[in-house]
Amino acid sequence: MDEVTRQNREHTLFSWSVQSQANPIHMTGGQGVYFFDDTGARWLDFSSQLINLNVGHQHPKVLEAIKAQVDTLCFAGPGFATGPRAELGTKLSEVTGLAKTFFTLGGSEANENAIKMARHFTGRHKIITRYRSYHGATMGSMTASGDMRRWPVEPGMPGIVRVFDPYCYRCPFGKTPDSCGRECVSHIEEVIQMEGPQNIAAVLVEGITGSNGLLVPPDDYYPRLRALCDKYGILLITDEVMSGFGRTGTYLSTQHYGIMPDIVTCAKGLTSGYMPLGAVIVNEQIAAYFEDHMLWGGLTYSGHPVSCAAGVANLRVYEEERIFENVREQGAYLEGRLLAMRDRYACVGDVRIKGLFSVLELVRDKGSKAPLAPYGGSSPEMNALAAYLKAHRVYAYSRFNFLWVCPPLVITRAELDEGLAVYEDALAMLDRQLLGVAAD
Ligand code: PMP
Repeated sequence: MDEVTRQNREHTLFSWSVQSQANPIHMTGGQGVYFFDDTGARWLDFSSQLINLNVGHQHPKVLEAIKAQVDTLCFAGPGFATGPRAELGTKLSEVTGLAKTFFTLGGSEANENAIKMARHFTGRHKIITRYRSYHGATMGSMTASGDMRRWPVEPGMPGIVRVFDPYCYRCPFGKTPDSCGRECVSHIEEVIQMEGPQNIAAVLVEGITGSNGLLVPPDDYYPRLRALCDKYGILLITDEVMSGFGRTGTYLSTQHYGIMPDIVTCAKGLTSGYMPLGAVIVNEQIAAYFEDHMLWGGLTYSGHPVSCAAGVANLRVYEEERIFENVREQGAYLEGRLLAMRDRYACVGDVRIKGLFSVLELVRDKGSKAPLAPYGGSSPEMNALAAYLKAHRVYAYSRFNFLWVCPPLVITRAELDEGLAVYEDALAMLDRQLLGVAAD
């Protein structure tokens, strides 16, 4: 362990880690889809650093904009008007079709503020969320999250009611997409009735659920959910922190489904992580409400000029370099490759993909769908898979029985091929050595 890593370990705390087991790579630099460690090794980044670094490492145009803003004005309080804030706010209205943006520092804070605004606007207090959506690690966002990461803070914030997800591979209602009656939506209506529609401020869901296994909903899920919210005067809040801003080839993942949420939260891809920034983007009615009602809340760093400048530059890169087109092109190629892996390897149970947002769900065998690691846990097989990828310097995000492929959106076909070759070898190894199945 080098000195930097030792000091990191000795004097700082790592997220979501038992500290004695934290094993960080000492990252010393990056370029495009690659980063470098202290030994000089080059890693192919198939994780985009928590599905965030959309324009890749060290994009010169974003760096230039940050440097220029630092030289001009490094900080202005949240009550001041600045050029970058104006430009980014205007751009966000244009690309989302919503009205106004409240800036935060990241995704968790964006969801905190979205919940608060929804409660103030509607005068109702309950928020419906889904078991497999994740919304952040601050108290309110953590409570709003459905997955196990909320357990340590429970009972947390009152007023959260949870429903099941559109998880077609393991449908909680025992259905299949072709024969179901979209129970994943109709059961929400039953929950609304039992909780009292007059008490429910909002339904808050990840646009496309990311860190709990990338759940792509059936095409009519959102139109039905939108109609349900409208029927009861409930706001629809979509958390696009992971799925938004280019990851699926659109600004908002719900743009694939032709619906408009009332509030959108985002972060990550908004600046590609170059500066911390999150946003709560609200529709006309909510914006109008706050014209003559107090917005109860603020953050010292809301609208930070350097963060906003990074956001403006990042979104300009999206347009100038036709990033969404690359997502569609490489995403289509990736989809073909992943589906072929599903056909080829016994351990690949399901593939879910939208743009460059994709996951392999790994199983012991396709028939039983027994997960290769339990929910909330690990297994020798998943550990071996992660170790194999690491040994071959492909940095990927894996959790439970899921293995993601979420490279920076600037990736080329050749770079994809480079990483996928290692994935193929790793899956063949799993089939051959760990499952006792001969892969051809
Ligand atoms: N929502 C979603 C969907 C996320 O994936 C995340 C982070 N992974 C968050 C919220 C929290 O964002 P942050 O870590 O920036 O607070």
